[in-house]
Amino acid sequence: MKTLKDFNFKNKKALIRVDFNVPLNDKLEVTDATRIQAAKSTIIDVLEQEGSCILMSHLGRPKGFQDAFSLRHIVEKATDILGVKVKFVADCVGDKVEEAVANLESGEVLLLENLRFYEEEKKGDVAFAEKLSKLGDVYVNDAFGTAHRAHASTTIIAQFFAENKCFGNLLAREIESIDKVLNNSERPVLAILGGAKVSSKITVIENILDKVDHLIIGGGMSFTFIKAQGGKIGNSICEDDKMELALDILKQAKEKGVEVHIPVDVIAADDFSNDANTQTLDINAIPDGWEGVDAGPKSRENFDAVANKCKTILWNGPLGVFEMESFAGGTIALGNSIDKATKNGAFSLVGGGDSVAAVKQFGFAEKVSYVSTGGGAMLEMLEGKNLPGIEAILK
Ligand code: AMP
Repeated sequence: MKTLKDFNFKNKKALIRVDFNVPLNDKLEVTDATRIQAAKSTIIDVLEQEGSCILMSHLGRPKGFQDAFSLRHIVEKATDILGVKVKFVADCVGDKVEEAVANLESGEVLLLENLRFYEEEKKGDVAFAEKLSKLGDVYVNDAFGTAHRAHASTTIIAQFFAENKCFGNLLAREIESIDKVLNNSERPVLAILGGAKVSSKITVIENILDKVDHLIIGGGMSFTFIKAQGGKIGNSICEDDKMELALDILKQAKEKGVEVHIPVDVIAADDFSNDANTQTLDINAIPDGWEGVDAGPKSRENFDAVANKCKTILWNGPLGVFEMESFAGGTIALGNSIDKATKNGAFSLVGGGDSVAAVKQFGFAEKVSYVSTGGGAMLEMLEGKNLPGIEAILK
């Protein structure tokens, strides 16, 4: 796996695909700069070797050139975070860009305009990728968030750099962390899958059954498993058409020697609202008019015990409707259990889908070993898929 360490960037132009797809408010100010922060290490490494950086990214889903999606809005924030003046050019291909690149000196950073102003980017257009490729000496992919897309700047471009391409520090760390959980893990290995639906996690579950010793199934997903086994789930969310699949997963798990842990009790609410009436119930005895919205106290204790005997922990998806304060307790308790296990030496990885939002909201980001930056990309890796952006560098 080629990384920055395999190159000397002195007087070289590094063409870096970053993920600066950050949220902006209605004044077009950056409201969460985590992704810019995450790209800093790669950029600084190149600058310290007296190279220069040409940064390319997408922002949102523009239709053609639209100022609201211009990357010029993030220049100030990026300059602040990197501690280096970020130059900007209002296009990503063409004469203007080539001139700005030619004038770029060692130690300087140039940000190109939103790649998705050109529909060729998402189409993976070869000619567009070739034009981009002319801008740098070495191609560095540091955008994990788009590594599952075969877009021009994330995948197609790599073919124009024969040997001169590598992973940036962020992407390398993502790959190493997932590998540490899925392939080179210290046992016992625990995967915790929560969230709303079985259907969105099914391929993940099937792929990881071969790799884990314990599997916690929590959140809204668990009710499909409970109902399939004959439990009474009241008004809890359930995918009736996935009940057979749920039973099949339990059978597969048994055959593979994986211990499956499903909540035994729930906090049930009489309304899907933060100030609903609640009661703690056995998970398979929820009366009509009530729905399970969070893991109950016995389940939290059980999950704590499992987490504490495992050496590798993967967490994807909340244990309840964490967006409502009254139903966040189970997710917070699990975060605390993982924190404790991590302090006792376990490697813990959180990521995929919206899990990161929950982890950040409750301050667990610093307590786990690694928080993945790519929702969809991470899920696809957990599903066992090869990501085109990663394959293109390895080729
Ligand atoms: P996912 O994106 O699949 O990880 O699902 C996250 C969503 O699952 C969050 O928005 C939670 O509110 C939701 N969720 C978790 N537990 C439940 C539950 N018991 N009932 C309804 N929604 C839930």
